Amino acid sequence: MLNKFDSSTDHQGFSAGTAAGNARNESTGHATNGKRARKREPASGAKKSSTGRQAVAATRPEFPFSAIVGQAEMKLALLCAAVDPGLGGVLIFGHRGTGKSTVVRSLAALLPPIRVVAGCPYNCDPEAPSAKCEFCREDSGTTRPNSRQVRVPVVDLPLGATEDRIVGALDLERALIAGEKAYEPGLLARANRGFLYIDEVNLLEDHLVDLLLDVAASGENVVEREGLSVRHPARFVLIGSGNPEEGELRPQLLDRYGLSVEVTTPTDIETRMEVVKRRDAYDQDPVGFVSSWKNRDARLRSQIKQARQRLPSITVPESTLRRATELCLSLGCDGLRGELTLIRAARALAGLEKDDRVNDSHLRRIAPATLRHRLRRDPLDEAGSSTRVERAIAELFDS
Ligand SMILES: [Zn+2]
Repeated sequence: MLNKFDSSTDHQGFSAGTAAGNARNESTGHATNGKRARKREPASGAKKSSTGRQAVAATRPEFPFSAIVGQAEMKLALLCAAVDPGLGGVLIFGHRGTGKSTVVRSLAALLPPIRVVAGCPYNCDPEAPSAKCEFCREDSGTTRPNSRQVRVPVVDLPLGATEDRIVGALDLERALIAGEKAYEPGLLARANRGFLYIDEVNLLEDHLVDLLLDVAASGENVVEREGLSVRHPARFVLIGSGNPEEGELRPQLLDRYGLSVEVTTPTDIETRMEVVKRRDAYDQDPVGFVSSWKNRDARLRSQIKQARQRLPSITVPESTLRRATELCLSLGCDGLRGELTLIRAARALAGLEKDDRVNDSHLRRIAPATLRHRLRRDPLDEAGSSTRVERAIAELFDS
């Protein structure tokens, strides 16, 4: 499915069994709101796990994106979101061990590194420091801020993270010791210009998901509490993964995600062997393995860069727009978000394939990821949403 821009054969890295995987065992069996409750995690423990991750990341390069076997739709959706972060995030549904977390880390490692203002807790761009960032505003007297190059951030939202930890809160230590009212930035600050990854997003409390989607859409985190009044840039691609068997997502929330994909563990022997072979080679010699995929990753990186530049000039012919609308109408999507996202995602795909205009082929390939989570339940149709989208596409495009 990735054909034109996916030069490699098939790929995959399965879940590395990281901190997130271990933390999962801690979740309790409480049922609130039809969901398994997430156990509140003590702040110190949370901090420990994220530093642990950084330590690992510092010594071991990420699994190469182009070495991931199969999972074509997931990779396609993530690449489109990388080209156009405004698409509204990606939901990944699948069972454990299907490599959901690996693929996000691989993608971030694939992207061109970014320059950030040195010391800024929000990763501001030195070329365009945000007027909304307090740190950069105070510093703006100087000519050009000091900057450093960093890898695109991937921030994990751990199980049971509190609202304080997500949006930031009053720095209690400073308040108690120095009597100062200072703001301690949260996870949203660290995720600015990168990815916010939520494992098992379907277990996250609705109000937190709402909050995250709001911030992701506005690109800004506003904190008005405990006598604090802070706003800071928070532009990130929200990636939520979930196991569909463990709690549903409210349709109102589903509709707010840009893309959704379903991933499965491969069932044919050849593919499974290839997955194991590559993962084993990576585990034996991460540096050597990454270097053997370096050229393929570099090609993909340059495709993303070029697609981003090309994006504003890609046109959508009237006939293609009509097709998109017809498709959404035939599927009974509520509102117009379906069409808007479909066109936008198809444009990102056209960019990746070096096309100047969106065509039916782009629409067709990205439509399932754009629409399957926006369908109203049809009591007369037992088919799953993927099947319904595929069927509507076939009817529209093959007739
Ligand atoms: Zn800043």
